[in-house]
Amino acid sequence: MKKRLLILGGTGDAAALAARASQIADVEVISSLAGRTQQPLTPKTGTVRIGGFGGATGLAEFLRRSPIDFLIDATHPFAAVISANAAVAAAECHVPHLLLVRQAWEAVESDHWIEVASHSEAARALSGQSQRVFLTIGRQELAEFAGLEAIWFLMRAIDPPAQNTPVPNGQLLLARGPFTLEDERQLLLEYEIDTIVSKNSGGGATYAKIAAARELGIPVVMVQRPPIPDVEQVADVEGAISWLIEQL
Ligand code: NAP
Repeated sequence: MKKRLLILGGTGDAAALAARASQIADVEVISSLAGRTQQPLTPKTGTVRIGGFGGATGLAEFLRRSPIDFLIDATHPFAAVISANAAVAAAECHVPHLLLVRQAWEAVESDHWIEVASHSEAARALSGQSQRVFLTIGRQELAEFAGLEAIWFLMRAIDPPAQNTPVPNGQLLLARGPFTLEDERQLLLEYEIDTIVSKNSGGGATYAKIAAARELGIPVVMVQRPPIPDVEQVADVEGAISWLIEQL
């Protein structure tokens, strides 16, 4: 009988992992998406389910009911709630659990990063320092910056912010990565950006803005990652596939 793998997704790595794991004869793949984006990049292979589970308790129930043999959490490094829930539910149900989390970016020479612990700290770092800011943090945390009325923001997100969310003064740019260095350089120059705010997401798809900022001498307010659960982890899809094969 096939073993059932649940992948907690919403990232390019999760979709790539679903494609690779589906090629293993003894594995049936179920990918889970939160349902945040209007047109998600759904994995093309295996089954896809969409929507929350109902906290750690709901996820544990899902693991038992399906039943799930292995759990790989391949969510975004800033999706801290679902990762914590996954650790609790997997431990409770004794389901082998792996975290696939890509490496954080590291500043290199001529980068000018202001590292902060949260989006609210990022907003405080901008106050009185910046005039035209490129906010590349998605739509969920935009409200943190809405009180900075003296700053003009270029806000990039996949979908528009939810209605009734306070949105900072400026322009919304709806776009989905990956982005090229040429395009990012052009954007920074065209909008006369003096500061970028970014999450330390890691990976290649959204790194070009960091390289463009370096070239142009633009400071980056870099929001550090939230803590992750203390469970077995790998940094790439290859590592996750090796772990899975070991478990079979
Ligand atoms: P979060 O704050 O950690 O999770 C909030 C709630 O959303 C969870 O408690 C869970 O609801 C539900 N959820 C999250 N990921 C889920 C998944 N893969 N499948 C089913 N339910 C899920 O998460 P978030 O930061 O809002 O991220 C939501 C999704 O967007 C994740 O799949 C993540 O990989 C992706 N994403 C996030 C970011 C980011 O910057 N945060 C960036 C790119 C992609 P219940 O408690 O009801 O189970």
